[in-house]
Amino acid sequence: MANTEGTVWSDRYSRQTRFAPIGEKGQRKLADACVLIVGVGALGASLAQHMVRAGVGEVRLVDRDFVEPSNLQRQMLFDEADALAVLPKAVAAANKLRGINSEVNVIASVADVSRTNVEELASGAQLVLDGTDNASTRLLLSDVCFRQGIPFIYGGVAGAGGMSATLIPGETGCLRCLIGAEQSENEVDTCDTVGVLASTVEFIASLQAAEAIKWLTGNHAAMRQTWLSVDLWSFRLRESAMPQGIGNCSYCGQEHAESDSAEEANRESEELGFTVLCGRDTVQVTLGKPLDLDRLEKWLGGQGCMITVNRYLVRAKLPSGEQLVLFPDGRVLVQGTSDSDYAVRLCKAYVLELKQLI
Ligand SMILES: [Zn+2]
Repeated sequence: MANTEGTVWSDRYSRQTRFAPIGEKGQRKLADACVLIVGVGALGASLAQHMVRAGVGEVRLVDRDFVEPSNLQRQMLFDEADALAVLPKAVAAANKLRGINSEVNVIASVADVSRTNVEELASGAQLVLDGTDNASTRLLLSDVCFRQGIPFIYGGVAGAGGMSATLIPGETGCLRCLIGAEQSENEVDTCDTVGVLASTVEFIASLQAAEAIKWLTGNHAAMRQTWLSVDLWSFRLRESAMPQGIGNCSYCGQEHAESDSAEEANRESEELGFTVLCGRDTVQVTLGKPLDLDRLEKWLGGQGCMITVNRYLVRAKLPSGEQLVLFPDGRVLVQGTSDSDYAVRLCKAYVLELKQLI
């Protein structure tokens, strides 16, 4: 490691380089690599630690959410101070990760991954790691990975169960072909409905991280070729062979079509401007214009709201009990309802009312 020679950290990676399949050569590859981690909650925080501790040169983190007390049971990078400060997860994670390994270029984005930013976020990455909690974002990531030729390491957990698979453009099928686009509309078990065992998170993140290290160090022949699912409570582990690309799929098939109906459908739902987040009594409303947080803070304070503020967001507890969490990129998380019409009405009443603010 050229950048560590002569420093007190020169043996930082010694236990990793002594592992023969990695060696000094693999370590240099890690230092030159760039990884995008989408979602820095439970899986994502663990994945980020693995990548940063292993010495991946650039780690990009993207997360749209902020730290809450209910995260602390399983999201290993966060603590009570982060929750009290209502820090965005990407920011809180980056702070911790830079303290763990200052050699890594950690880039944090507080954003929702969408069709408008996903190409740029993934551009130049050797791998995309799935730390998300919903099928629609995963499908979007799978699409962009197959367009850009970047492997996508899928992971999902709920309860004591989890799944993981590595999707490689040109070798395996894409996520659309594996789970079907319809799942984005009909997610059954989520961490919010059935809870989640923290050890399941670490198990799945560990599987994802192992495949990531294999890929980044050039050990492609060692990649697991299976779709793996596990239940840690009953301990049942099942593996099935990864299917290859499907001929008529416009992402993983041989015959690439120019347009895709699923893509069109996604574009339409984005234009509606709201998303119900992972069954947790929260609606995300996208206003499509940047928000002036300083002025909104004053305005909402004058409307009888209880305000919490930091550099990254404003949280306003409304007199009616719901909370609005406002981000400068124009997103509003409306907490305390899963009724999207009602959430949009609250945004109109409290945010759009002051038109000059947006
Ligand atoms: Zn496909």
